[in-house]
Amino acid sequence: NRVWYLAARPTGFPSAADFELREEAVPQPGPGQVVVRNDVMSVDPAMRGRMNDVPSYVAPFQLGAPLDGGAVGTVVASQSDAVKVGDSVLHGLGWREYAVLDAGHTRVVDTAAAPSSAYLGVLGMPGLTAYAGLLDVARMRPEETVFVSGAAGAVGSLAGQIARLRGARLVIGSAGSAEKVRYLTEELGFDAAFNYRDGDIRGQLKRLAPDGIDVYFDNVGGEQLEAALFRMNVHGRVAVCGAISQYNTPDAKGIRNLSLLISKRLTLQGFLVLDHWSRREAFAEEMAAWLRADRVKVAETFVDGIDHAVDAFLGMLQGANLGKMVVRLTGV
Ligand code: NDP
Repeated sequence: NRVWYLAARPTGFPSAADFELREEAVPQPGPGQVVVRNDVMSVDPAMRGRMNDVPSYVAPFQLGAPLDGGAVGTVVASQSDAVKVGDSVLHGLGWREYAVLDAGHTRVVDTAAAPSSAYLGVLGMPGLTAYAGLLDVARMRPEETVFVSGAAGAVGSLAGQIARLRGARLVIGSAGSAEKVRYLTEELGFDAAFNYRDGDIRGQLKRLAPDGIDVYFDNVGGEQLEAALFRMNVHGRVAVCGAISQYNTPDAKGIRNLSLLISKRLTLQGFLVLDHWSRREAFAEEMAAWLRADRVKVAETFVDGIDHAVDAFLGMLQGANLGKMVVRLTGV
């Protein structure tokens, strides 16, 4: 059983030397527990935050201890009546080939209805983040103009598609390459998109949203947030979902134009998906219907093998992914 450990705490951008892959015995289940062979595991931006030793909404990774995170696997041993050998389960002990945990800390998922990776992306945490952030936090209404940054990623690709399906007038996305920009407009149905690396973000937004922005779904913070505030319409809402442009830059600059909140009566609201768990069923139902009707495109990037999990994580932080970055541990 190969397991990834935190070997060092990075300042700035993490490197492979901050992680260590160790070989261990496959764990045995205790009473009420199951052993899961992980099929797919998630790498998420939030894991970068957990590498820092600071208090937050989720405990930091500990030096010399295994990493953890979302995973879907197959139960190979069970001492629980609730979960059987052969069941596919979603749980929180990724970054390893085999996990042992209480059956109550797993959720059985239907891998006949959707592939296991979907429960880490479109039907999982990133999907709910997009749904709740757009509809409950930013309270998007039909006929509004929506701007989504990080639009080619797991959350952003879904936020933009949900905006379109829920009747937005104009959906604009930003991403970090010409190929991603093309993908947004040609495959995902965004009305317009731009590459933030081309610069003049304010000018690009002005060109694409001449009548202003009503809702900004912010995945990146920093310069794009500053530029979006200039373009926001009066009473506009910003769902502050993430600030990935700042996660690896401890000395990141602040937002200089916050006084626009006053003149434009803007609302900026930060949120955590874990406060929106009550929306899970409504979300899962609506998203599953969209998927069945082929109205949502699932974007996923796979990296194969536990030994490449760190490459996948570091790659995701730099934009190597289109849609959800998933590490595939077995042949499923
Ligand atoms: P993504 O799949 O979007 O992957 C991260 C992406 O960030 C990369 O693909 C890259 O795309 C982009 N990126 C990296 N550096 C920068 C930069 N300097 N400026 C702009 N974009 C950058 O990740 P997720 O969809 O999982 O997460 C998206 C955001 O949502 C993150 O900020 C994350 O922390 C947040 N989040 C918040 C949650 C909540 O509860 N509030 C829950 C889940 C996620 P590109 O090529 O376009 O640069």
